[in-house]
Amino acid sequence: MNCFTHPQAAIGICKHCGRGLCHDCVVEVELSLACKSRCEAHVAALNELLDRGKTAYQKTAGAYTKTAVFMGLSGLLFTGVGVMTFKKSGIIALPLGLLFLLCSTFYFHSAKRYRSRD
Ligand SMILES: [Zn+2]
Ligand SMILES: [Zn+2]
Repeated sequence: MNCFTHPQAAIGICKHCGRGLCHDCVVEVELSLACKSRCEAHVAALNELLDRGKTAYQKTAGAYTKTAVFMGLSGLLFTGVGVMTFKKSGIIALPLGLLFLLCSTFYFHSAKRYRSRD
């Protein structure tokens, strides 16, 4: 591949527009290549967006883990109350507790999935 604006061979490709770049046209933006004085801002914005995407997965995983722990504790509480007072109100508390526990495992799995994407 040749440079988009010069006849010499390209040494890299712009991350934003995909054009071939020679030594005179290339500029490095945080380990990425960009067209000099044309795509620098675009590539910087693109990199920032990608970085934010990475932490978004971690944040989502963290929120899912918190929900999973809360659901798990509620599930244990309701299941415990349900077993102890089965004759009175256990018929409501027990299925509710088991439902919470089920949701908790779902959230744990989701958190694990999000975390493994990094
Ligand atoms: Zn470019
Ligand atoms: Zn060039």
